[in-house]
Amino acid sequence: MTKRVYNFYPGPATLPLAALKKAQEELLDFKGTGMSVMEISHRSKEWGEEIDAVTNLVRELMDVPDDYRILWLGGGASTQFLMTAINLQVTGKPMNYINTGGWSTKAIKEAKLYGDVNVIASSEKEKFSYVPTDFEIDHNAAYLHITGNNTLYGTEWQSWPDVPDGVPLVCDMSSNLMARVIDVRKFGVIYAGAQKNLGPAGVTLVIVREDLLDRVPDDTPTMLKWRTHAEKGSMFNTPPVFPIYMCKLSLEYWKEFGGVAEIEKVNREKAKILYDVIDKSEGFYKGHARKDSRSMMNVTFTMASDELENECVNEALKRDLVGLKGHRSVGGMRASIYNAMPLEGVKALADFLIEFKESKE
Ligand SMILES: *Cc1c(COP(=O)(O)O)cnc(C)c1O
Repeated sequence: MTKRVYNFYPGPATLPLAALKKAQEELLDFKGTGMSVMEISHRSKEWGEEIDAVTNLVRELMDVPDDYRILWLGGGASTQFLMTAINLQVTGKPMNYINTGGWSTKAIKEAKLYGDVNVIASSEKEKFSYVPTDFEIDHNAAYLHITGNNTLYGTEWQSWPDVPDGVPLVCDMSSNLMARVIDVRKFGVIYAGAQKNLGPAGVTLVIVREDLLDRVPDDTPTMLKWRTHAEKGSMFNTPPVFPIYMCKLSLEYWKEFGGVAEIEKVNREKAKILYDVIDKSEGFYKGHARKDSRSMMNVTFTMASDELENECVNEALKRDLVGLKGHRSVGGMRASIYNAMPLEGVKALADFLIEFKESKE
């Protein structure tokens, strides 16, 4: 039997077992071609069907309206920090940002290279322990950028901000894509690195409303224009075929699973189990996020001392509960429980945390 652990790493992260098995099965002979999907031409009919299939799965699962384009790009979500500003900036209009953590901070830094940035709210002074709800968006903003879920700090937008007419909402959903049902219409652009909730590292999903493709100045470098990739069906150059293929296998699994509504139901249940353990621990486990901002994806908490935290991480490892050490910016522990983390994994972790606490009494 192959060994499999419960993997709580923040990303790359656990994938549906069914998707991995299918990949293994098809590795040497993709759809009867006698070649691996890594070897066939991206101009082949077989690959063309493949990228159409995965794009259609995104459209179906997220209910993406027809006037939005779905792109598969390289460079990670971090390249979208830059591409957002390049593609959406308008001279004389400030780019609005809300700073809710390390990834927002990085996005802001890139945008500042391209024009006026107005950071209209930030929770930095409170160690990014909450998502601000009190802010004013510039009525003439080029766009408002938010980070949907703050992977490092374990906070998440509970509802989406209302933007003034004509101000597109841009959201980095790298760590909460398809984690709950959303209305894509509320957004101008959604982007996500694949390696948390969608598939392996190496591809980034961008969903962009068609009219926003025309903003970019013509003299922008070709590869940095969303329009280039939209016009060529994400095949202006060789796309990251294997990661895209893995995303397809994952999404086939999620479709079978019951779609995003079903994913959301289980995600809520998983998060509640862990937050209940924290809340009932009489301060043994201290949650980092304010209760009104808690993430369903990354549960962050600290304990009384570094020694205790290290011991807890090491004891967890002995039970095949892997990847629980917190990010250095928060310390403590972080359980990343993305869509593909099964309910059983979360239950095993909750049981362990309760027992660990009891062993210290
Ligand atoms: C992981 C992460 C990123 C970085 O993604 P890359 O694909 O490594 O560039 C950006 N934003 C958020 C919210 C993340 O969780």
